[in-house]
Amino acid sequence: MKHNNIAIFVPHLGCPNMCSFCNQHSISGEETLPSAERVKQICEQAMREVSNRSNTEIAFFGGSFTAIERGYMLELLGAANEFVGKDGFKGIRISTRPDYIDEEVLALLRSFGVTAIELGAQSMVDKVLFANNRGHSAEDIMNASRLINENGFELGLQMMVGLYKSTIEYEYETMREIARLSPETVRIYPVAVLGGTRLGELYQKGDYTLYSFDEVVGICAEMLTFFEENGIRIIRMGLHASEIIESEMMGGFYHPAFKEIVESRIYRNNITEATNSHPSRDNYNIYVNSNCISKALGHKKSNVIYFNEKGISIKIKSDSKLKKYECKLEDGY
Ligand code: SF4
Repeated sequence: MKHNNIAIFVPHLGCPNMCSFCNQHSISGEETLPSAERVKQICEQAMREVSNRSNTEIAFFGGSFTAIERGYMLELLGAANEFVGKDGFKGIRISTRPDYIDEEVLALLRSFGVTAIELGAQSMVDKVLFANNRGHSAEDIMNASRLINENGFELGLQMMVGLYKSTIEYEYETMREIARLSPETVRIYPVAVLGGTRLGELYQKGDYTLYSFDEVVGICAEMLTFFEENGIRIIRMGLHASEIIESEMMGGFYHPAFKEIVESRIYRNNITEATNSHPSRDNYNIYVNSNCISKALGHKKSNVIYFNEKGISIKIKSDSKLKKYECKLEDGY
């Protein structure tokens, strides 16, 4: 059954530093802090509107939840906790910094019904974390992840692609290290360079060179395949659609259909592999799972156009027996 979140944004408040890419108000689209009363209103409304409550979490996103002033954090949790449990929602989900997790705060979170904790890891390479002013190390991410797992919470990790001073090698190192921490979920955010950030300044001065969009799609396609093969769910790829992002973005990688573009790239790679094994032809019937036809065709038929430009004509056909991403050439080819 589909999982839902009732998203409540707690912008930037309490965060002890300013990461190179962060402009919390742009990312969340929110400027004002929610009160406990507001949290109750949001939850009451969701109680009326959401039918599959047992599969829905109240999610405090943005900022650094466990770094906010303790009294205010408990007010928010107390308000949300009234709507968790019997006849209510499944639990509470929070996102926070790795260096604001310890046994004491985990015990507190558990007592208020928190079930899932997402850490903003962003990179597993100290050099990249330092260059982007994260204020914590890869070891902090490892320690926090271990504590979260040991204390029985669902662990989620968020990573970024294309940070300042990162390299393709570092992107894949981060991917492998994140998988080693056994998260249940991962979010992958290719960098969006926003006005009012350190990255924005570096970008304007020409001191920060970004990958091409095509490269980022290729990297994310490898990552999506890798995480899924390792049983880790990717619950988000690319920032959420937001007018503010679109108006404040100076560079980087934002597309409202980013994940779909990445999945299409996986199909392109797999179709290339399949056709390479029968290179003597110039037209192919390719079978894919019935639910995946549009991904195999590509965003705006980009895969069909890509192969056409190589002098290869492909027709995508459906076969419900095939697995996701599997591509089969028509029998006899
Ligand atoms: S830790 Fe999070 S809220 Fe704080 S500056 Fe970095 S991205 Fe922004």
